[in-house]
Amino acid sequence: MKLRLASPAHLVDLNFIRKLSYVEKDGTALRFGALTRHSEIEASPVAQQIPILHDCAAGIADVQVRNWGTLGGSLAEADPSGDWAPVLLTLSTKAHTVGPKGERSVPLSEFFVDAYTTALAPAELLREIVVDIPPPKSGGAYLAFKRCAPVYATASVAVQLTMEDKEVCHKARIALGCVGLTAIRPREAERALEGRAVTQKAIYAAAAAARAAAEPQPDSRGSVEYKRSLVAALTRRAIQIALRRSRGERVEVSHIYA
Ligand SMILES: Cc1cc2nc3c(=O)[nH]c(=O)nc-3n(C[C@H](O)[C@H](O)[C@H](O)COP(=O)(O)OP(=O)(O)OC[C@H]3O[C@@H](n4cnc5c(N)ncnc54)[C@H](O)[C@@H]3O)c2cc1C
Repeated sequence: MKLRLASPAHLVDLNFIRKLSYVEKDGTALRFGALTRHSEIEASPVAQQIPILHDCAAGIADVQVRNWGTLGGSLAEADPSGDWAPVLLTLSTKAHTVGPKGERSVPLSEFFVDAYTTALAPAELLREIVVDIPPPKSGGAYLAFKRCAPVYATASVAVQLTMEDKEVCHKARIALGCVGLTAIRPREAERALEGRAVTQKAIYAAAAAARAAAEPQPDSRGSVEYKRSLVAALTRRAIQIALRRSRGERVEVSHIYA
């Protein structure tokens, strides 16, 4: 609204619906109320069961933004630079919505239609986000490169691996943020890891494929070539951290600042 991208005739404040703010474990899934703040996810021991969620929540802007911004608002806004979309696209995530026509469950892969455009119908609200807990031998990592804390990232990469054993990757999910109109799944990069030993060679092949799949725009944050190079470097690092986590190692990560 501040940027005059939207000029609504009426505003409805959802903040009074307190029951829409929670983080819960439900069997093999985690459930997040749409109004859950980034800082609540950052502090939640329940959310830490999926470490990539903590990587994301803890790195969003600064304390002020994390205390006010909500998971549901971030997804509904569908900003191409938002942190949650790439992270949640590497996991099995569903968006539960409610509207005049009833309730729907939308896979997150179908939720983002375009920049600032989602599958939400007019008058439809995001009610809950449900994330399946990855199976054993899984690990993920989210890295974003930022100029400073309160700004959106220049590029970001989320990686979630499920391993067959310590070396061979069973399933790889990779998503790129800030380098397209929506978060991008570089399928060739995923294929460079799946069914193979995650060697340095395989990691470099995946990073090269991620670099090729990125569709960055040149802007004040950097040129197209610069952003592609960032994507490759972040992909390599995120795969290495995801691999270590899949082996049970505790690895702390934070965003990378210029
Ligand atoms: C200075 C600044 C820096 C930021 N930096 C980052 C960053 O680094 N990374 C990042 O990921 N984000 C960042 N953000 C975004 C922030 O994290 C918020 O998530 C985002 O601004 C949305 O805010 P909100 O949750 O209050 O939603 P609102 O601003 O209230 O809503 C955003 C949009 O979503 C709609 N909406 C909200 N909730 C729902 C719902 N439950 N159902 C349907 N529609 C809904 C609203 O109608 C509106 O169109 C930044 C924001 C600011 C102001």
